[in-house]
Amino acid sequence: MQRSDARSSLTLRYRQVGATYKSLRTKLKQNEEAITSGRTKRRYKGLDKPPKYVSRTYTLNYQRDYSFVKDQKVSVITLDGRIKVSYQGYSKHLEMIQSGVAKIGAAKLWYSKPTKTYYLLVSMEVEVPDLTPTDINRIVGVDVGQRYIAVAADTQNKSQFFSGKEVRHKASGYVKARKSLQRQGTRSATRKLVALSGRERRFIADTNHCIAKQVVTPSTLIGLENLTHIRERTRPKKTGKKASKKQRRANSNKARWSFAELHGFIDYKAVLSGSLAVNMDAHYTSQACPCCGHTSQENRPNKGLSFVCQQCGYTLHADLVGARNIALRVLLSRQDWESTGRFSAVPDASSDETKGERRSRYSQLRWTIDAISTLNAAESFQDKAE
Ligand SMILES: [Zn+2]
Repeated sequence: MQRSDARSSLTLRYRQVGATYKSLRTKLKQNEEAITSGRTKRRYKGLDKPPKYVSRTYTLNYQRDYSFVKDQKVSVITLDGRIKVSYQGYSKHLEMIQSGVAKIGAAKLWYSKPTKTYYLLVSMEVEVPDLTPTDINRIVGVDVGQRYIAVAADTQNKSQFFSGKEVRHKASGYVKARKSLQRQGTRSATRKLVALSGRERRFIADTNHCIAKQVVTPSTLIGLENLTHIRERTRPKKTGKKASKKQRRANSNKARWSFAELHGFIDYKAVLSGSLAVNMDAHYTSQACPCCGHTSQENRPNKGLSFVCQQCGYTLHADLVGARNIALRVLLSRQDWESTGRFSAVPDASSDETKGERRSRYSQLRWTIDAISTLNAAESFQDKAE
């Protein structure tokens, strides 16, 4: 028994190494293509030296490599056989596991260098609740960007702004410090660098957690924009040769915010509170007038803080427009959900509707308090009729 366990953990380790080499090889191939097409002259050096794992992590499968045993203890396989150690955890999550709401998944054995401690990070699996349109009583659209990390707007005219100014300033400080340490290149600088990058990552994660917590409310359908082109959209305006030296330096010190992480947090927090987060097609959400549908770049005069519709004159805080348009699209998919009994969460090419059809339907959406209250009235009327 013991031997087979040891073998399986060895296989796991092979797999980890194999995966590392696979991704290195992919990078090499991409680099070769880039050189042939003249996009770069730099040779990829990732395979010159054997890969080194900075953090010692190791994946363990539940019931095979680790399991929970009596007296608040966990049994973990090691190369010298099984060991039993006591554990602690976030009480709310432990309760969920005990009550059977959450299932236990694979775990990672992780070593924290500063505290010289091994941690067992256990993943929880929570099933997405089977929601029906009537379970939803609030609809929110979330837009992410530079000036505000996130703006959330619901269809009842409420909005939340999460300013990016301060947190970005702090995050940029980390980037600057990292660059200076990288330039030094000494051993102690490398050590500091590892600690710093951990702090930077935790700071971003912490901020994302706070935002997600405030965005997610119970029984809500939350629309998130598809992040495929987010890097382009949130890229600083002046880059390359056109930018001044000062501008370029400012750009390079700008922290990259992890919007995907924010979406991930919103997603799982939504599931935990009986809500649902969905990916929406965010095409033109920042240019379309929520009031008359007129879509143009001109609707953002001088790329300023205000959105001013060039056709109907509708004026709104520019960062709110995107969130409202997403909320409108979520409203539409909720109506579809009600009429078809099927929710199409991710708009993709394989759906029944083509992209063009869907976008032409989006362009018909209008933000009028009348329309939304009529919709709500129609729903409550329907409720009464049933
Ligand atoms: Zn308009």
